[in-house]
Amino acid sequence: MNASSSSVVHSFLLPLAGLAVLASQGPGALEGPLRSTPLESRGHGVYEPPAATCLSGADRRRIQGEIERNRVVLESLGVLPTAHSGGAVNGQRYPLVLFSWPVRAVGAAALDPGVHGISNFVDNDPSGGTLVEFQCGARTYDNHRGIDIFSWPFPWNRMAADEIHVVAAAPGVVVGKQDGFPDQSCSTSGGQWNAVYVQHEDGSIAWYGHLKTNSVTTRMVGERVTRGEYLGVMGSSGNSTGPHLHLEVYDGGGQLVDPFAGPCRVLAERPTWIEQPPYYDSAVNRLQVGSTSVVMNPCPMPDVPNDAVVLSRGALGYFTTFYRDQRAGQTSVFRIVRPDGSTHHTWQHASAVPHYAASWWWWSFFIPTSVPTGTWRFEVVFEGETSSTDFVVQ
Ligand SMILES: [Zn+2]
Repeated sequence: MNASSSSVVHSFLLPLAGLAVLASQGPGALEGPLRSTPLESRGHGVYEPPAATCLSGADRRRIQGEIERNRVVLESLGVLPTAHSGGAVNGQRYPLVLFSWPVRAVGAAALDPGVHGISNFVDNDPSGGTLVEFQCGARTYDNHRGIDIFSWPFPWNRMAADEIHVVAAAPGVVVGKQDGFPDQSCSTSGGQWNAVYVQHEDGSIAWYGHLKTNSVTTRMVGERVTRGEYLGVMGSSGNSTGPHLHLEVYDGGGQLVDPFAGPCRVLAERPTWIEQPPYYDSAVNRLQVGSTSVVMNPCPMPDVPNDAVVLSRGALGYFTTFYRDQRAGQTSVFRIVRPDGSTHHTWQHASAVPHYAASWWWWSFFIPTSVPTGTWRFEVVFEGETSSTDFVVQ
């Protein structure tokens, strides 16, 4: 699958289900002092993030019924307030419920600048047939009733390592949960998902779906969760083509909510975000250095990052950058920095493709035997943000 290392330019072909194939680059694309070596190469790939009907209508109705039954019991026990009507809960005006970000990285993943992307927003066309999200674009699929936040890069590795947590976007009471269903789905026939359903103070309910098997919070139905509290590990249970969170929200009156404010939002508006992410949230999620290129595997196999802390003089070094929402014309300025802070090599790059939800680009260079040993730095400036990672040359 990997391109050979004998030509100047590699085409990096990924003949994999769920991964689109990318173009090779034309010769002469490299610049700088290493240009003449025949071992230079570059490549590029795109991850097709989950885009599937996350929940069947039958499953949705079953879940709604289950939540409703739990609510009746919890209301009778006084755990939940009764009567959400006329903009009031038990005669009191609805408090404004606001969402914080529902995904958090822990462990090694938390060292990266970013760990997620958004593949689908809520479809605001209730009649079906057309795709309209809050911003009037088509980054959704027909009748998608949630927001899909996917893990990127290395979604399966990180799921195995429990590194991407789904956390409560707002405090509330658990009004339902389910666990124990398989979490390696790569298709829309994955059966039931693992999920947690949380009712907020205003009667609205958030559904957190596709969680990893046996990762669902030990909080019982009726127990409270705080903002940011662990709910489960991002997984691929149910109808799913890769690890992601499907966040579906209903307001106190049972109406579907789109938490994203925008000109084409026609759905219910509360809860909404404390801080709404940009529509195109273009950023570097990860930088890495290695002695060979990353190997991306088909769903549900883990990828082989091939990252390394130590590179050897006289060998190849691979410098890889993973992006979310990379758009045409956005320039990355890369630098390989020597231990004394001087620039060993710098180059620029911009994609010509309008939008990638998740992409990666790599360059490899021969590391001359004459360069100093010590701690080096690989750095990129993208969209005004500088990201870097250290490595050792020996
Ligand atoms: Zn979804």
